[in-house]
Amino acid sequence: MIVVMKAHSNNEEIQHVLKFLQNHGLSGHLSQGVERTVIGVLGQTSNAGLPSGIGGITPGLEDSLEGLPGVDNVLRVSKPYKLASREFHPENTTVEVPAACVDGGSVTIGGKDVVMMAGPCTVETETQLMTAAEAVRKAGAVILRGGAFKPSTSPYGFRGLGEKGLQLLAKARDEFGMAVITEVMTPSDVAMVCEYADILQIGTRNMQNYMLLDEIGRTNKPVVLKRGMSATIEEWLLAAEYVLSQGNKNVILCERGIRTFEKATRNTMDISAIPVAKTLSHLPIISDPSQGTGHRHLVGPMTLASIAAGTDALLIEVHPNPDEALKDGAQSLTIQQFNELMPQAQAVAHAIGRDFITR
Ligand code: PEP
Ligand code: MN
Repeated sequence: MIVVMKAHSNNEEIQHVLKFLQNHGLSGHLSQGVERTVIGVLGQTSNAGLPSGIGGITPGLEDSLEGLPGVDNVLRVSKPYKLASREFHPENTTVEVPAACVDGGSVTIGGKDVVMMAGPCTVETETQLMTAAEAVRKAGAVILRGGAFKPSTSPYGFRGLGEKGLQLLAKARDEFGMAVITEVMTPSDVAMVCEYADILQIGTRNMQNYMLLDEIGRTNKPVVLKRGMSATIEEWLLAAEYVLSQGNKNVILCERGIRTFEKATRNTMDISAIPVAKTLSHLPIISDPSQGTGHRHLVGPMTLASIAAGTDALLIEVHPNPDEALKDGAQSLTIQQFNELMPQAQAVAHAIGRDFITR
């Protein structure tokens, strides 16, 4: 349920509504848009114990809310997620990430322009990371990716360098001024990874790790939430809702391919999820064509398709020597391939009236 305030409602009236909700065991989440202030109502209702978005709130309460000073009307949100929904927040949300290499010292994700995040799947050695970082920065990427804690399907696969990998990422940030995105796998590592990372990544295998979502929700860090490989868009937005409902508003969705019956690709890149998510939600959405396809020759075409479909950023794996990569070599671009892809990506962005933020 959403309480829509009148255009000229004052702070006292807003606080009164929040207090009213609190007195009824509910919590109100404020969204102050340019046009209007809305309050998302969260909590269990007395109605069959269902969350208010699903079961609806007790009718008496709804009427009382509508009668409070400054309240314009009360709307039911038709979706089970609320804070993530466009009904709650009609304008696009933008997420600011500090990046010294960008004019003004920060990069906006979800705004008019497109952003490139690139780097190795996994931090392997200092030389590997620095070489990749220097090359992708030169080509126009402003955010450096690299896993230090790697989820691995097999327990015998490389699991990453851990904190040592984070230190190398921080070193690359100092050297090239790029922001750093890296995965955090467990709630107990969140505080430590926050010390090094500018963006936390929640991997596909952890999209429904609710303890992790809660913990990250209690921070203020920008977070890229990968779609679970078998998750519906609704489940993905409900996972985003976990983070948002804890107070962290800096959520970025990431389409990274889903499981289908098709075997020609590692995953099926669901390009349609980009405009679907944009319609249902106000959150920025980015696209990972590397995990999305599993094959480097498909990364370029899916990058261009994602931009055409409205992605706000790309997350692309680039390795100085993919044949020797410890992880995901087959889907990692060479530096040369990445250099060739960037101008094509820029051309597609221009065709739909967007630019790339490269500095
Ligand atoms: C990755 O980005 O390298 C990764 C492991 O992603 P995902 O969680 O989407 O598989
Ligand atoms: Mn990978």
